[in-house]
Amino acid sequence: MKPSLFQWKQQLVTVGFAAALFAAATTAWAQQPAHHWAIVVHGGAGVIERSALGPAGDTAYRASLARATEAGAKVLEQGGRALDAVEATIHVLEDDPLFNAGRGAVFTSDGRNEMDSAIMDGSNLMAGSVASVSRTRHPISLARAVMEKTPHVFLVGKGADDFGASIGLEQEPPSYFFTESRWQSLVKQLKKEGKPIPPRPAGVPPAGATVPVAFFDESPGLRHYGTVGAVALDVKGNIAAGTSTGGMQAKMPGRVGDSPIIGAGTYASNQSCAVSGTGTGEYFIRLTVAREVCNLVQFKGMPLQQAADTVIHKELEALHGDGGVIAITPDGQMAWSFNTPGMFRAQLREGGKLQVGVYNDEP
Ligand code: ASP
Repeated sequence: MKPSLFQWKQQLVTVGFAAALFAAATTAWAQQPAHHWAIVVHGGAGVIERSALGPAGDTAYRASLARATEAGAKVLEQGGRALDAVEATIHVLEDDPLFNAGRGAVFTSDGRNEMDSAIMDGSNLMAGSVASVSRTRHPISLARAVMEKTPHVFLVGKGADDFGASIGLEQEPPSYFFTESRWQSLVKQLKKEGKPIPPRPAGVPPAGATVPVAFFDESPGLRHYGTVGAVALDVKGNIAAGTSTGGMQAKMPGRVGDSPIIGAGTYASNQSCAVSGTGTGEYFIRLTVAREVCNLVQFKGMPLQQAADTVIHKELEALHGDGGVIAITPDGQMAWSFNTPGMFRAQLREGGKLQVGVYNDEP
């Protein structure tokens, strides 16, 4: 049957409507905003109190955290990858003697620096880790090289440093990583524990030649960790996490903490979240803290802050563990949570204001 004029008109309207819908949909798709970038940074959790840090220490740490966060934000602002932002941020902190990573790392009980680090790309679950490295200036870059340039995930000790040297990563003598304040802090702890004091590392100034930075660990019982970490979200919607540390002061030679263990101190998956932890690593390893936070997001549908608080304030505390995490999701949720008197921390999102915090009574 031939369609009537009315039916023709109706068909035309339908086709026109469909075409308009299609056009609207494709324009909306083309105009879909990129993700808004965001970054969260930590510089360690611990017994960090106003009285111990003092105004000069407080100002110095906040300035360093701001500088590191801005270095990462710059990468993200220019459309760079979350992974690059994490590495750039951690470089700044590894070079800064205030933090327990790279230069300024704490000492083992026998007076050496053994550093651990990991990085993870949430977009493809690629990861790289190093432990007990003592020569590579930027352990985070070594971890990244393990991820990108080897078939492995985790390298340790001399093999890891040798690999770093072989691909041209900067190598340094023990005196580069040495700081007088960390040394004094080690000596104080070993004396208290009645343990032998190791000789000062070769090539460092003689005792008494330099004045230690006053706002380190000087009051009795002040435990201050200083590990560093970053999590970031880039404009493509990918997330990444990284952590770098000298570990725990006066640790046994060969001890490895949670930071380089994927799922314990560092984890990232676009399916859930990216996490970097800090605290007494033994608890973080046993609880697989970083993966645990992401599990609650992925399988229980928890908002990020609630997931982080559940792991830190319920699960970690139940084991009498101490420390904290920073975290981020691909949809832009950012969180930090810690059960210590302080955690050095900062966050910044696209179009937002830099927020820096130290003590537990700050937002
Ligand atoms: N988690 C680190 C470790 O146990 C230390 C820290 O975060 O301060 O090696």
